[in-house]
Amino acid sequence: MDIGKNISAIKQNIPASVKLVAVSKTKPNEDILIAYNSGHNIFGENKVQDLVQKQEALPKDIEWHFIGHPQSNKVKFIAPFISLIHGVDSLKLLKTINKEGLKNNRIVNCLLQFHIAEESTKFGLSIEEARGILVSGEFQSLKNICIAGVMGMASNTDNKDQIKNEFNVLKNIFNTLKNEYFLNSVKFVEISMGMSNDYLIATEEGSTLIRVGSKIFGARNY
Ligand SMILES: *Cc1c(COP(=O)(O)O)cnc(C)c1O
Repeated sequence: MDIGKNISAIKQNIPASVKLVAVSKTKPNEDILIAYNSGHNIFGENKVQDLVQKQEALPKDIEWHFIGHPQSNKVKFIAPFISLIHGVDSLKLLKTINKEGLKNNRIVNCLLQFHIAEESTKFGLSIEEARGILVSGEFQSLKNICIAGVMGMASNTDNKDQIKNEFNVLKNIFNTLKNEYFLNSVKFVEISMGMSNDYLIATEEGSTLIRVGSKIFGARNY
């Protein structure tokens, strides 16, 4: 397992405009440092406690992404430093993030997570639910969050056509919301989709941010 080589191999496979989030969840700081010393500085975690410990211990120019759905009562721990929260799927969570952003005098970037997979277990909004949030006066009063785009996870399947269709659905959701609510926003630009097994399909379908873990750091033992 050569972490640096894995990262450069992935970067060679994707357009230069697509950003790679190296998903380091469950992996030790030593592994993250190997990636960092090879020149990579964007990492993703999905547990607040792990993320906070890693952020404290590791170089301060790392750009940390929260790639899951943070619990409301834990948002305060990541609000001081988080670059992007990928998994936001409720107005309640947006309000919490806004409150903690305000306390830290920051605008916290968030992606709305959409349900695009077949499995009913994965988190995410429908486009109707997103519209309900975006038109609400409550949402419009939140000044310490910025909706920077959308995020989704495809079904866990070998069926490439199905994965492609699901990513295409997310791309269309992005375009629709852009036209309806964000035409004048220079910040609504990200489509976070693609993981170790499907990132090539995702970049073909217009992903701007891929979240890759095991292809970089090896399989995870939980
Ligand atoms: C774990 C995780 C990833 C990375 O998964 P791999 O298959 O290891 O690349 C990407 N996105 C989310 C939301 C995750 O939880």
